[in-house]
Amino acid sequence: MESRYYRFKSETFRCKKCKWEGLGSALKTGELFESLFELDCPQCHAVVDHISYPTAEETLMFGSEAEKKDALQSVERRNAYLAAQLKDISLLPDIDDTDIAFVLTPFDDVYLAIMYKEQVIWKEKRGYEYYERYIAVGRLLKEKYGDKMIDFVPLNDDLNLYEFVWR
Ligand SMILES: [Zn+2]
Repeated sequence: MESRYYRFKSETFRCKKCKWEGLGSALKTGELFESLFELDCPQCHAVVDHISYPTAEETLMFGSEAEKKDALQSVERRNAYLAAQLKDISLLPDIDDTDIAFVLTPFDDVYLAIMYKEQVIWKEKRGYEYYERYIAVGRLLKEKYGDKMIDFVPLNDDLNLYEFVWR
């Protein structure tokens, strides 16, 4: 769905309830949701339409200078976060052991750490996609340690992922 965020103010809207008609710039911002917000009739406050928030790409094209700067910063932060993620299993230590169990845990507020016997063997910036990252890291660990790895447990109070066994 294309975001109309940057052009709705110059579009004409009509309220189905009270028949008010006018420019989007006259509409009132109604309820806010995660990815969109309501536009309400300035006369009777009925919901007239919904508008999605712009993507970073749209903001970089159509936003004000300040918005473009913010969007650029958040794109750069996201790229830095992705670049710092574990991708190369040669960066993981060789472990001369069998029945290896790992723990994935939040660490020092901003990091996600892979622990082995109380030791941090890898840490990276923590993102919001905790579960997806858990799955991806599990695959990398399995690739590196193969059958020597018997368990990979996430420790995160926010998610009910306890006792999830990676096999
Ligand atoms: Zn109305």
